[in-house]
Amino acid sequence: MKPSFTIYALSSGTGRAGVAVVRISGPHAGETVKKLAGSLPVPRQAALRKIKTAGDGTLLDRGLILWFPAPASFTGEDMVEFHVHAGPAVVRALLEELEAMPGLRAAEAGEFTRRAFSNGKFDLLEVEGLADLIEARTERQRRQAVRHAEGAASRKLADWRRRLIQILGRLEAAIDFVEEAHVSESALASSGEMLGFLAQEIEVELERGRQGERLREGLRVVLAGLPNVGKSSLLNRLAGKDAAIVSPLPGTTRDIVEAHVNLAGLPVILQDTAGLRATTSDVVETEGVSRANAALSRADLVLWIASPDVAASWASPSFDSDALWVWNKADLGPIAPGAAGGGQPYLAISTKTGEGVSGLERRIVDRLQQQVSEGEAAIVTRQRHRDRLTAMLQHLRAAGDLNQPLEIIAEEVRLATYEIGRLTGFVDVESLLDEIFREFCIGK
Ligand code: GDP
Repeated sequence: MKPSFTIYALSSGTGRAGVAVVRISGPHAGETVKKLAGSLPVPRQAALRKIKTAGDGTLLDRGLILWFPAPASFTGEDMVEFHVHAGPAVVRALLEELEAMPGLRAAEAGEFTRRAFSNGKFDLLEVEGLADLIEARTERQRRQAVRHAEGAASRKLADWRRRLIQILGRLEAAIDFVEEAHVSESALASSGEMLGFLAQEIEVELERGRQGERLREGLRVVLAGLPNVGKSSLLNRLAGKDAAIVSPLPGTTRDIVEAHVNLAGLPVILQDTAGLRATTSDVVETEGVSRANAALSRADLVLWIASPDVAASWASPSFDSDALWVWNKADLGPIAPGAAGGGQPYLAISTKTGEGVSGLERRIVDRLQQQVSEGEAAIVTRQRHRDRLTAMLQHLRAAGDLNQPLEIIAEEVRLATYEIGRLTGFVDVESLLDEIFREFCIGK
């Protein structure tokens, strides 16, 4: 099923750079090289060539050509890379030349990867990992994405799938040998045990997935406290001069100010709870507080900020999220003896002088690191994965009731297997049946 069109795109970014890479994929890729740069180079070896227009042979540039014949290429199709000088006029001239060639058209967003997926080069999890890798802003995000892109999650799913097929095999045996009670019963009991183990592993994975999702999206650190204690000053301090993105997000009535920052490789979203800030009088009963409380309960870490000049801020509010207690404006006065920090000591800082701020930053990183400890690659890094694994778990639980008809148990296991197919994007019922029948036709 070869797509007839050959696609091309500028694969390196736009803007000033030394080298630009234009990629071409599809059946006409080789021909394009011959038309623009003479014969095909040795596969996968860079060749320095003059690149000329196909019409009158005007020199466009001199550059490197890389030729990747199918199927050993990124997309699995014939592919070519032109490495040319990155001047906008050079790139434009080359792209115009390609546009004019019959059978070629500009690639759509993600089309190279889509073709790679269609040709079985990657499964969906790997594709998503690749997308995350391109988007990764911090070291931890990069590490998570690269493990997905390299198939760590896919391998785990392959293992689960293999085990589900074994379970299905035993269930088939239990069905086939229903006359011989002890064979049937022991086959059923062992599949029940295997189902239980698998369900447990998925539960662990769903739990670990919260870390994966957080790493991908950013960990939420909420700056909370009474008006005037210095929340926005601290946010600006932590975000630094080149504050990644400080963007007032339109809320319902009041705004929450966010800054995306990279703290020691962790992607962090700092949120200034303006809801609380805008509240002046009866703090407990105002709408702003409830909104701020909602942010507090979603937070991965709360920085509760108090200061010597706002006496009411010394009281310790209660919330469930992990918290650090920050005594700001230490330049104005020491930590008040009556300041209760939820049982923990306050950390003294001054956003004005900078005192204590880097220490606070280290504490924030320590706390967040505990929440996203690095271990095996998490499978769940987005909602889609969570949905599929949750569905899978439900089927396994439904299958776990061994008193129901065997056919129903087997059907639930099959549905669980199908969820793995939906996760990886390969729903290959035929090959599943092949495997089952090849492996488990016990002497028949
Ligand atoms: P928010 O309402 O909690 O966001 O507080 P702001 O960040 O707007 O700060 C309130 C006031 O406190 C401003 O006038 C700041 O300049 C001042 N302020 C903030 N941090 C410090 C500090 O560390 N020392 C001193 N002396 N003043 C500070």
